[in-house]
Amino acid sequence: MKAIARPDVVPFIAAWSGEQPHRRTVVYSGQGGIAYADETPEDRDQHGVLWNGRALAQGAGRPTYGDVHPGRQRVAMQHLLCQVCGRAADRDDRGVLWVVEDHRGEWDGWPEGLMTTHPPLCLPCARKAVEQCPHLVDSSIAVRVADSDACAVYGRIWSSSAFGRPVRTAVKEVVAFGSPAARWVLAGQLVRSLHGCTFVDLRRELARHR
Ligand SMILES: [Zn+2]
Repeated sequence: MKAIARPDVVPFIAAWSGEQPHRRTVVYSGQGGIAYADETPEDRDQHGVLWNGRALAQGAGRPTYGDVHPGRQRVAMQHLLCQVCGRAADRDDRGVLWVVEDHRGEWDGWPEGLMTTHPPLCLPCARKAVEQCPHLVDSSIAVRVADSDACAVYGRIWSSSAFGRPVRTAVKEVVAFGSPAARWVLAGQLVRSLHGCTFVDLRRELARHR
């Protein structure tokens, strides 16, 4: 699922053309896995996972809608900010408002335990999204999430090679903090698992809070 875009607004988590990825040399880490040759403490999160650095210049150049900015996505996911406007996501007594692709039936109790890279939403942005993309209501489902856990990252997997340096693989995947693969991933997005989920009717939700 793509980030939820309002046609009249550039989502907070979208990257801009003025925010080019930093070209950093990746080397083997003394602890195993990968490191930057010129690494600084800010390059890793509190779990020791290496992050894909990228210039921070929101609004510079053109928005690149399909492209998520690692720094802003991480902040939004960490602090439960709206993926569209970057303000606090909506929360009521049943939890934080998430709109996810409808995969009901994928497993018993879905979406309990669902891992997602998409941050939650605030009500004004949910309202605009529904008004401007009515199909969203059919293809997605709104969920109130009582509890969620920032438990993993999504990113590019690197591998050891015969050339004295690690190499990028074609694989991008979700990697749990503390797993062996966490030393080999260059994180691009923070992942939350969703718990205590209650399905809600998005239109009713918007009416209730009007
Ligand atoms: Zn918003």
